[in-house]
Amino acid sequence: MSRRPVLAANWKMNMLREEAASFCAALASSGSLAGGATVAIFPSAVLLDCVREGLAGTDAQLGGQDVHPETAGAHTGDHSAAQLRDAGCTWALCGHSERRQNHGEDDRLVARKAAAAQRAGLRPMVCLGETRGERSDGATLDVLERQLAAALEVGLEKFALAYEPVWAIGTGETATPEIAQEAHAHLRSVLGRKLGKDRAEKIPILYGGSAKPENVEELYDQPDIDGFLIGGASLDPNKFSAMITSCSEAARGR
Ligand code: PEP
Repeated sequence: MSRRPVLAANWKMNMLREEAASFCAALASSGSLAGGATVAIFPSAVLLDCVREGLAGTDAQLGGQDVHPETAGAHTGDHSAAQLRDAGCTWALCGHSERRQNHGEDDRLVARKAAAAQRAGLRPMVCLGETRGERSDGATLDVLERQLAAALEVGLEKFALAYEPVWAIGTGETATPEIAQEAHAHLRSVLGRKLGKDRAEKIPILYGGSAKPENVEELYDQPDIDGFLIGGASLDPNKFSAMITSCSEAARGR
């Protein structure tokens, strides 16, 4: 089944307004946004308005890097799903490994965040992936199944998954196409068991972890890889637009 490619830029805690504005100008004039891929930018919350203005008139979408599970209240420093939506977001990242590791987020909290995003009309992009230790212990597929099962318990409907092996994030060590495909196929089969094959076939599963223009083509060639969540390479508009174009062209040939 052919799924529209999804290219997501996770800027993490990078960029100032001026850099974000020139990134948007370069991306908007690159031609890559008109190629048929879904493109979403996940800037810091303080840059959401700047990116929204910079990409106005294009089909690029906006997302929050994190979302609080509660709707409002005394949660200093956090932001709610409704606030993200109000700022122009249509997506929310849930359970990025940097949040799981640096902020102690567990599977249950990630699921509550995804549920809060969905309730506010955002599309959750649930990140999952094994650590290096879990891979060397042979536990990868069990970890993925546990993380996915927890997320599905809250009744997600329209969502995407991002398989991001922790050992590949920001390390320059990209998963091989075979390793990534094995994980994606496993996630797809768990989705199929829990939601039915038809729905599972429609859910985009992105790969993340040192993806760059040089390796997207062979990764995207895998049947269950539907796009990319990109950190480092997404800070450069030339690299990011090259990756969008490469997947858009490959999707047309699928
Ligand atoms: C990420 O943080 O989601 C990511 C994939 O980072 P990088 O591309 O830099 O490995």
